[in-house]
Amino acid sequence: MEKLLVSACLLGKRVRYDGGSLALTDQIVERWLSDGRIVSVCPEVEAGMSIPRKPAEIVAGDGEKVLSGETMVAEKGGVEVTDEFITGAQVALELCQRFHIKVAVLAEFSPSCGSSAIYDGSFSGKKVPGMGVTAALLRRHGVRVFSQYEVAAADEMIRSLGE
Ligand code: SF4
Repeated sequence: MEKLLVSACLLGKRVRYDGGSLALTDQIVERWLSDGRIVSVCPEVEAGMSIPRKPAEIVAGDGEKVLSGETMVAEKGGVEVTDEFITGAQVALELCQRFHIKVAVLAEFSPSCGSSAIYDGSFSGKKVPGMGVTAALLRRHGVRVFSQYEVAAADEMIRSLGE
């Protein structure tokens, strides 16, 4: 049975920077859970970051540029946390490799988990197209990354892989 990697905050775990979650209520996710398909991860907590923690954003560009060393991730206030974000992404990748995971559903807009849009680095709430660091690393390794708005598409992908 194909397993999926899912952002822990989407499963109701209170791991976000502000101590909250983004709990999804979705019948497909409920089915995945009851089937035992889900492997949960919060890359930032896995990297040793605290709950709560200061918000962080990719300073310019996206997760691909972070992985290429062209930009950094910084907390509000300027402290660099690039290493923590890359460590968290590596933990997520190791989980995918350990469980042969080819599909992930990650929380949109996060500097770790965003898959099509992230905050722009100005801490003003402005979003720009791009991926977070974890989404970028997983995609580099062939994992199909979806957001919480694309659960049905992720489910179709899992089915097309032969359950
Ligand atoms: S790093 Fe990902 S899993 Fe962790 S709180 Fe942020 S969006 Fe959720």
